[in-house]
Amino acid sequence: MQIVFTCNKCETRQSKIFTRMAYEKGVVIVKCDGCGVQHLLADNLGYFYDSTGFTKCRIAAHT
Ligand SMILES: [Zn+2]
Repeated sequence: MQIVFTCNKCETRQSKIFTRMAYEKGVVIVKCDGCGVQHLLADNLGYFYDSTGFTKCRIAAHT
């Protein structure tokens, strides 16, 4: 599947491709193409729930 999101730090719009399995069942972390910050897109396992090391981004669209 593909997600399009906008970085909330540098406003870079970008798309990433990963498996639906990872998005629905696992953990998905992507690195911003613009500023290099790491975004936590999905955390179904709760690994990073309390972590401050990731920036929440807003997801513009996904298919
Ligand atoms: Zn960025």
